[in-house]
Amino acid sequence: MPDVVVVGLGPAGVVAARELARAGHRVLALQPDAQPSGRAPLAAPPPTLRTRPDEEALLQPAPPAGLDGVGGSKRLAAAQAYRLEEWSFRMRSETVQRYGAAAAADLADWPIVAADLDMWYARVEDATGVAPRAPTPWTDRMHSAAARLGWHPFPAPAAASPDISPLLAGTGVEIVRATATVVQQGPTGAVAGVEYVDGDGITGVIACGAVVVAASVLPTVRLLLLSGLTAAGHVGRWLLSHNTFVVHGDFAGIDLRRRDGGPASAVAVAEFEGDRFDHTGLGFVGGSLLQAAMTGPWSTARLDAATAGLSRRTTGNVDAATWVRAHHRSIGTVWGQPDQVPRADNIVDLDPVHRDPAGRPVARMTFSLADDDRRRWWFLADRAAEWLDAAGARTTWRAPLQPQPLGTHLYGGVRMGADPATSVVDSYGRFHGVPGLVVVGSSTFPSTGGRGPVETIEALAWRAAARLADDLR
Ligand SMILES: Cc1cc2nc3c(=O)[nH]c(=O)nc-3n(C[C@H](O)[C@H](O)[C@H](O)COP(=O)(O)OP(=O)(O)OC[C@H]3O[C@@H](n4cnc5c(N)ncnc54)[C@H](O)[C@@H]3O)c2cc1C
Repeated sequence: MPDVVVVGLGPAGVVAARELARAGHRVLALQPDAQPSGRAPLAAPPPTLRTRPDEEALLQPAPPAGLDGVGGSKRLAAAQAYRLEEWSFRMRSETVQRYGAAAAADLADWPIVAADLDMWYARVEDATGVAPRAPTPWTDRMHSAAARLGWHPFPAPAAASPDISPLLAGTGVEIVRATATVVQQGPTGAVAGVEYVDGDGITGVIACGAVVVAASVLPTVRLLLLSGLTAAGHVGRWLLSHNTFVVHGDFAGIDLRRRDGGPASAVAVAEFEGDRFDHTGLGFVGGSLLQAAMTGPWSTARLDAATAGLSRRTTGNVDAATWVRAHHRSIGTVWGQPDQVPRADNIVDLDPVHRDPAGRPVARMTFSLADDDRRRWWFLADRAAEWLDAAGARTTWRAPLQPQPLGTHLYGGVRMGADPATSVVDSYGRFHGVPGLVVVGSSTFPSTGGRGPVETIEALAWRAAARLADDLR
């Protein structure tokens, strides 16, 4: 019998499994194989989605962006690896202090501050080889432009590889190619085991005293709810997303050569992140890192996306798709990943109608943007346009802001907090009131921050696993 079962081997599960095994515990990990689509239909079936609780939720064609299998979604990622800034951990108290309680709405502080993660961030950075990529002509151009604006540009840190699975080598973690379906509790309420189904449809139960759920936001919430683990209605609440935006600029005939590097190569500015600027009268809190990145080869999807918001005035009356295909070498882009404020209406629960191929309810998402999301976006997009202008863009355009509940960065549903009355897990991911159950991943984040989550996911998972390893002694 294993000491611990880890559910899911994305970055969170890999880091947790490795630490537990290195501490001498017997670790078994459940991770289904992906189909050629990259997805595992029992682990990540497409959810249903609606914008309001009184609407019918419609089945989506695909789950949120990502990959199933060992290594998880990070294998698709730019591998940008940021520490979350201090303000993001104290978003509520900082907002109350500067702008008053009314501005803080449903914000929550984390039960830890950035300094609590310093050591774990350093370990992740060492283990995954985090460092900036070499500058390119495009990042140099944007670096100089930001400096001329009086901003403080810096190169984006990135992991050496998007594949974190080599960290498992030699650890002895046993991998079973199966999907966890239920976390079982014993008579005292403590974890007793995990039910699973494998790729042949064969079901089984693994008895264990501890389970680390590391399945990413929707699958984690769904597994907990299917296991009857609701935390008095808190599981599934406070769903958040990075509603990523882009602003494009036309550099009139200059070949920017953005295709010569991947999006890990980027230059960033933090002037408009968190509370680094006065929000008085702006109607929103928070912000975003702004980044100018390389693209790699321009895919059809990327070319099509660059047409959104492009006016006939810019194209000289040429059809947008034709114009972008002719001019894409001269298109520079700035993108942001804005904070989102938690809202009581944005939740995940179980769909009452739609089922996965094994007959279990899929996740139902209720998600919409609010006015502050639009105001934050517009303000940040103006700053992005200003940056592109300073770099020599002839003109800029922006795609309309889209809600991204199926985007690349989801958060919430298993909120972390010190008080069991208002949260699901503590800062070590320990589920309040269920001994032996630990949740890791961005489902536990009380706020998004204005930058990518993966290094914080890994640092928190490492810290949680080290604590669980001690708890199990
Ligand atoms: C295109 C793209 C680009 C990105 N770029 C960046 C970036 O540059 N920087 C950044 O910080 N973040 C980035 N991200 C986000 C980052 O990849 C994720 O935040 C990260 O992978 C989440 O890690 P995780 O381990 O929590 O979940 P995942 O990586 O999603 O892994 C979860 C694993 O759990 C498995 N699983 C699910 N349910 C079950 C179950 N019931 N039983 C067993 N296994 C299960 C899944 O199959 C999967 O393998 C990007 C994401 C995408 C999609």
